[in-house]
Amino acid sequence: MLVVVVVAGLAGLTAARQLSDAGHHVVVFDKGRSPGGRLATRRIGSSRFDHGAQFFTIRSDEFAALVQPHLDAGLVFEWCRGFSAQGDGYPRYAVRAGMNAWAKALAVGLDVRCNTLVFAIRPGAANSGAAWEVALDDGTSVPADALVVTCPLAQSYSLIVSAEVALPEELVRTEYDRTIALLAVLDRAPAVDEPGGLNNPTDTLSFVADNQRKGISEAPALTVHAAAGWSDQHWSQSSDELIADLSAAAADYIGSANIVEVQLKKWRFATPRVIWPEPCWVAAESAGPLVLAGDAFAGPRVEGAVLSGLAAANALL
Ligand SMILES: Cc1cc2nc3c(=O)[nH]c(=O)nc-3n(C[C@H](O)[C@H](O)[C@H](O)COP(=O)(O)OP(=O)(O)OC[C@H]3O[C@@H](n4cnc5c(N)ncnc54)[C@H](O)[C@@H]3O)c2cc1C
Repeated sequence: MLVVVVVAGLAGLTAARQLSDAGHHVVVFDKGRSPGGRLATRRIGSSRFDHGAQFFTIRSDEFAALVQPHLDAGLVFEWCRGFSAQGDGYPRYAVRAGMNAWAKALAVGLDVRCNTLVFAIRPGAANSGAAWEVALDDGTSVPADALVVTCPLAQSYSLIVSAEVALPEELVRTEYDRTIALLAVLDRAPAVDEPGGLNNPTDTLSFVADNQRKGISEAPALTVHAAAGWSDQHWSQSSDELIADLSAAAADYIGSANIVEVQLKKWRFATPRVIWPEPCWVAAESAGPLVLAGDAFAGPRVEGAVLSGLAAANALL
């Protein structure tokens, strides 16, 4: 069976891995320059920033079993046990070379085609022998026997409006919180104590990370995430205004360091507000098998994306 997985976030990569291991021919498309989606890491000189997901937790045995080989191999490490002074005893994990390295490791050996925007999904033409046709924005299209679609839901919906599939209204209307991220290269270490992360330090900020203290950056690198409400209210401001406002909001954590270089990243679909009660959605009546998955199904976090990807693969197997 030829399965096309639309997008190479953690959910799509997990589904692709399972399906490929089960012997199916799998092709994965993503518009990004590299796989990973919100599992994102950026380098500026010698500074390395996680600027999407900062860490992950393990709540289920299923996810623990998947992570264990990466822990054993040293790709994943336990970062800390909480962000308050005394911690809460609950492990937070991170990835040695930045969170995105995990996505890259999952993609090894898979046919992942990045820099490829999927434009539309349609039932295959009657004489094509394929259930689906996946149209790409360069004007070409690819046939598929089955589809796994794991974009944030608004994007999945716009892809499958042409697929003649009736999506439940609640899925179509799922809203996402936004996050504006500031990435600051500093000339010396910032004022962020061990373990190098602060959860909800102020009303304006949802997370502040010293990526060097965290253990993923050679040089000082501060990630600042604006809280959802603040990001929503300030979304349309100019980049210069956002940089000035977020630098001011993070002044206590920048401390006596100077900002050498700064970049912004705006996550339009950062966190789904409502989670679908099942770990994936399987179309009941459609041209062929079609499964929607992603963190809006099994929980708005790394583990949720992985478990949803697994559920999508199992639905097809
Ligand atoms: C700022 C931020 C902080 C976070 N912090 C944490 C954290 O600390 N811990 C935690 O557990 N989780 C965290 N998360 C959540 C976590 O990152 C996500 O739950 C998880 O990565 C979602 O994976 P996914 O595969 O469902 O979707 P995504 O990773 O979003 O993958 C979607 C992919 O769709 C692609 N795409 C969309 N439309 C198209 C198209 N038409 N054609 C081709 N490609 C397309 C995009 O390029 C992207 O690669 C955070 C998220 C953000 C944004």
